Amino acid sequence: MPLKVLILGVNGFIGSWLTEAILARRDWQVFGMDIADNKLGEVLKNPRFRFVEGDITINKEWVAYNIRKCDVIVPLVAIANPAQYVKDPLRVFELDFEANLSVVRQCVAFGKRLIFPSTSELYGMCPDPLLDETTSNLVYGPIEKQRWIYAASKQLLDRVIFAYGVRDKFDFTLFRPFNWIGPKLDDVFESKEGSSRVFTQFLSNVFHGQPILLVDGGRQRRSFTYVEDAVECLLRIIDNDGQRASRRIFNIGNPASDVSVAELATAVIEAFHCIPQYRHLAAAARIETVDSQTYYGNYYQDIQARVPAIEAVKTALDWEPRTDLMTSIRKTLEYHLQRGDFVATHINSTRTGTGG
Ligand code: UDP
Repeated sequence: MPLKVLILGVNGFIGSWLTEAILARRDWQVFGMDIADNKLGEVLKNPRFRFVEGDITINKEWVAYNIRKCDVIVPLVAIANPAQYVKDPLRVFELDFEANLSVVRQCVAFGKRLIFPSTSELYGMCPDPLLDETTSNLVYGPIEKQRWIYAASKQLLDRVIFAYGVRDKFDFTLFRPFNWIGPKLDDVFESKEGSSRVFTQFLSNVFHGQPILLVDGGRQRRSFTYVEDAVECLLRIIDNDGQRASRRIFNIGNPASDVSVAELATAVIEAFHCIPQYRHLAAAARIETVDSQTYYGNYYQDIQARVPAIEAVKTALDWEPRTDLMTSIRKTLEYHLQRGDFVATHINSTRTGTGG
């Protein structure tokens, strides 16, 4: 019997890429729920994919029924944008923590395997040069710095899931994405500052002819990881050959793509320059600096460096990232080019086609 995989939040960045990869490279069936379907495109027509439009916090019976029916549960519904952590921290708690705790408990009750998104944010301001799943400390700022509600929510869920594993032999894998990037990360057509994570925000800024804003000068560093590499790792986690992913925590990131935010901005402009149809946008691009209080408000606190140790996942699953930063940016721009997005000689902010 082919594996049945339930993906909640299937239309998100990770969910849509994961569904596409499963249907292309495995014989599994996918059951998915989301409040929209704009990122799913062609996969909606695949007979091995069942999509239901809905909110998991409302359609609780559908969720419970499908947890019972499926073998592997991948709950991806969450707010994962720092601008939202400071703007609406209680919504982050209710959705990321409360709604997911209910799903976790049902997986435990029905003995289902859970593949759960933890986060690189969990390490907080840990000073370790490489962030390690088993040895790094988790370091957060004071309560007034509301940014940390996301990391704290995710941390407690990690601890709850781990405890079920120890007590009940509950079968799970926790994965920690390190700044996964690629097409469909956020909505590149939405030009408002703070609507996207930094990668999409910078692309959107250049597409819309708006300045790229470096928060506090852009010295802070991130390790950007191409989504197709990351999703290949998720497939191996779901395969779980030899149970090598069971009750494990894995960083999924690309330590070779550790760059400052200022370097990311330069790389983005360079990538635009390399595509003839987008060259005029590169020529018009500007970089400015903004302080974090102005950009995010008082409740924000930043993370200066974030490089993953990836020995655990390399050893267990024989996985390594392959795509460098420039290739990741180019692939994302080529995706938009192919769809005819923003190709007019003047700057065009009109939506074309689905998704983005
Ligand atoms: N950032 C920036 N300009 C922007 C948006 C974000 O300089 O327009 C910075 C932000 O302050 C942070 C980094 O980029 O240091 C990464 O932000 P992102 O929203 O991708 O999330 P994070 O990696 O912090 O979870």
